[in-house]
Amino acid sequence: MNNMCSRILRREFIKTAVTGGVGLTVLPDIVKTQAAGETKTRYIAAYDTESASCLAACSKIVEVHKRFEMPATFFILGKTLEANPGEYRKLLDDPLFEIASHTYSHQMLRDNVFCGQAVSMDQRRDEIFKGKEAVERIFERPCMGLRPGCGFDNAFVGEPKVLELIKEAGFQYVSSLLWGPDYSLPALLRAPFNYEADGFPQIWELPGHGWHENLLKDHNRWGPRRLTLWPPPFPEAIPRGFCRTPADEFEVNKVFLDKAIETGKPFVSLIWHPWSLAKFDPDMKMLDLTFTHVRRLKMMPSTYAQLHKDAAILA
Ligand SMILES: [Zn+2]
Repeated sequence: MNNMCSRILRREFIKTAVTGGVGLTVLPDIVKTQAAGETKTRYIAAYDTESASCLAACSKIVEVHKRFEMPATFFILGKTLEANPGEYRKLLDDPLFEIASHTYSHQMLRDNVFCGQAVSMDQRRDEIFKGKEAVERIFERPCMGLRPGCGFDNAFVGEPKVLELIKEAGFQYVSSLLWGPDYSLPALLRAPFNYEADGFPQIWELPGHGWHENLLKDHNRWGPRRLTLWPPPFPEAIPRGFCRTPADEFEVNKVFLDKAIETGKPFVSLIWHPWSLAKFDPDMKMLDLTFTHVRRLKMMPSTYAQLHKDAAILA
């Protein structure tokens, strides 16, 4: 038995003993879902779903996920969901998928060098609460996680007022660390951490990794930008130019997947947007290539909610 399993079993055993359980140790999900031969590195497919063209794109994405039996987390804007509630429910109401929030309307929850300044505290409260409420109303299940629009290079570290709102809304985790140091890309392969130092040990940060794929294709029409860090902490993850084909994009993804395994990271999750994926690659070939590689590497497919469960157990 490896160390991680024995640690979990010990903790679960203690928990069962303390709570006066029936005497049988309940195995946590990580033990149940880690199939023989799988690595301990989880792979999470995640989608920031945020504009009108995301609906048609999601329908293609879902088809690939079902074919691969690959789980996913969809972070969805409240506004986007409310524009097509029945369609999204029909498409995504599946045990494979976690539905989480991408705020209500993509307003900034803290200052972001590229995306602009934070809105007022009242507006931030609305973004957090109304986004969660929309997911729960439309999917009739709890919404555990929040990915703020654009994300930040320092997550919500040092933002106790926003963390207080996140706690009050009842979120279990945020996925807000979506940039490398000094607002560089790629976002490094950071592991989960909690906000204990800010006074919120119950809130977990589960970062996103790699490039915001829309920028790899110049879909925001930014052109060349000061996006990378020097000296680069992860030079092999910086392509020579914009991606031109799904195979180019897969080559970038592969660097992160391989590195996560090589360095024993708990998980890897790239920052994807349905509208941008469909515009670049209407047949979703990149998903095919990436999921085939995930299977070849024997990574453990997961959602952010499942990762959160592990993170809380292992803390
Ligand atoms: Zn977004």
